[in-house]
Amino acid sequence: MRLSNLYLPTTKEAPSDASLPSHIFLSRAGFISQVASGLYNFLPLGKRVLKKIENIINEEMEAIGAQEVELSFVTPAELWQESGRIEKFGKELLRFKDRKENLFVLGPTHEEMMVNLVRNKVTSYKQLPLHLYQIKTKFRDEARPRFGLMRGREFLMKDGYSFHSNAEDLDREFNAVEEAYKKVLTRLGLNFRIVEADSGAIGGTGSKELMVLADSGEDTIAVCSKCEYGANIEAAKRSERADIPKAPEGQFNKFLTPDVKSIEDLSEFLKVDSYYTVKAVAKRLVFEDRTEVALFFLRGCDSLQEKKAQSVTKAIDLVDVDESELEAVGLIAGFMGPLDQDKVKYVIDADLYEAKDMICGANEKDYHFVGVDMSVLNEAFFADIVEVKEGDGCPYCDGTLSYTKGIEVGHIFKLGTTYSKALKAEFLNERGQAEPFIMGTYGMGVSRLVAAIIEQHHDEHGCIWTKESAPYMVNVMVSNVKDEAQLALGEKLYAELKAKRVEVIFDDRKERFGFKMKDAELVGYPYTIVIGKELENGIVQIFERATSNKEDVKAENILDVIMDRI
Ligand code: ATP
Ligand code: MG
Repeated sequence: MRLSNLYLPTTKEAPSDASLPSHIFLSRAGFISQVASGLYNFLPLGKRVLKKIENIINEEMEAIGAQEVELSFVTPAELWQESGRIEKFGKELLRFKDRKENLFVLGPTHEEMMVNLVRNKVTSYKQLPLHLYQIKTKFRDEARPRFGLMRGREFLMKDGYSFHSNAEDLDREFNAVEEAYKKVLTRLGLNFRIVEADSGAIGGTGSKELMVLADSGEDTIAVCSKCEYGANIEAAKRSERADIPKAPEGQFNKFLTPDVKSIEDLSEFLKVDSYYTVKAVAKRLVFEDRTEVALFFLRGCDSLQEKKAQSVTKAIDLVDVDESELEAVGLIAGFMGPLDQDKVKYVIDADLYEAKDMICGANEKDYHFVGVDMSVLNEAFFADIVEVKEGDGCPYCDGTLSYTKGIEVGHIFKLGTTYSKALKAEFLNERGQAEPFIMGTYGMGVSRLVAAIIEQHHDEHGCIWTKESAPYMVNVMVSNVKDEAQLALGEKLYAELKAKRVEVIFDDRKERFGFKMKDAELVGYPYTIVIGKELENGIVQIFERATSNKEDVKAENILDVIMDRI
């Protein structure tokens, strides 16, 4: 491609709302342009990068026997009603009616559609396993679209779905996909980590996220200092605490604690470690058709992980409540506890199961109970709702956990039979009995990957594409196109590289050298061959973007040298 013909509107101006390097540079370098909030156009170079990523994904999917299909983007709302997700997804689903008043949804993910594709067609265990995938536009009316391609409303996703007759076979496929995804990210030159995750609105068990490590990532992940363990903070677990503080002495009793409302005040007042206090966190649970106040109890030294709390209560959202809302349901802020509390539903953190010598609110102004044996509450709802902290122990080895930031570029789940049951998609097993398919689902954010590559690979001048993601590998730049010798060598090299099937771009524009060089750095081609004044002495230069290295090469050897480099 000749740069003089290419539609590459580079600018010095970044979009006013852009804060991330990927958003700034992809816009400035003319890869993308914004249409409206969360909606982007891909320009020629952006489209080439997308295709690069798609090709790598296709190759790795082919290698594990997954088959590419393409399903309709517009999906009938009935399918979403059948699965029950029309409520769960809430406002992220963009709904509309056609001229005949039929309700449709723009596909945010395609579990329902894929189950619908195979139900009543795949009818025997002999036709299993089956793994179908697509690379297709998705639409989610995200509450806060931001960071350019990172969190768009319309975005490109690779989504795969596998169907199995037994759980072991799903495990095998899940592992195969995990390996294939690792290959994709490794080929793209990304530094990543696979972490345990929460299954979110999609449901199911066993879920892992692929996180590209970058400070700008929206996800916090807890990683072990010693072993491979890593988990999204929303799902992270920890080992049992080793250094348990000395327990306070004393029998069960109701204790006057005037105006002692916070955990700090309480442990100070009673001179006990906050490990032995019970913290109450009140939240309003939001469901599709109603809201209600609920309490979460945990040790005073711990804090609530809201995503875990949301998952266990199956709420769509959790929002904060103020004292007047608590009063309205008969709760007394600062003195709430799980004993004799029947005003609202509550969840107790699993770490409090059968805990002894605890101190908790007495649900009466200015009173706490001391010496509480939590086993009197064994019938209550206990669940893991705690957020792991840096320094907590790894659940698998004696290492410690620390936080790092990641960009979620992929998410794989063992779905089980959630969707096949809801949509009555069954096959006949070896004994001739009908059973729902056991399913896996595997997503990868293709357009988000474009941004993730740049988050990890950029400097103050612009993009630094990795070899397998670069829109063009080599940029042949003629410093002064009025110089016949420079232009002639440029043309020759351009033709030779094309003949060798190198992805080459030819900067034959009538611009100043400095301008062209700035563009080359902004766009981020891995190699630029500069044909300039030194050609008089038989010398050209190779500029390597990743290292900023400039190397003089004899003009007669340049083809061999660059072929060797790439
Ligand atoms: P997130 O937590 O970031 O909202 P998600 O859990 O909703 O992601 P999935 O439903 O698992 O995402 O979708 C699969 C993949 O699609 C994600 O791993 C991510 O890479 C990509 N993706 C999801 N939402 C968006 C979005 N709004 N813009 C761009 N890519 C997205
Ligand atoms: Mg999401």
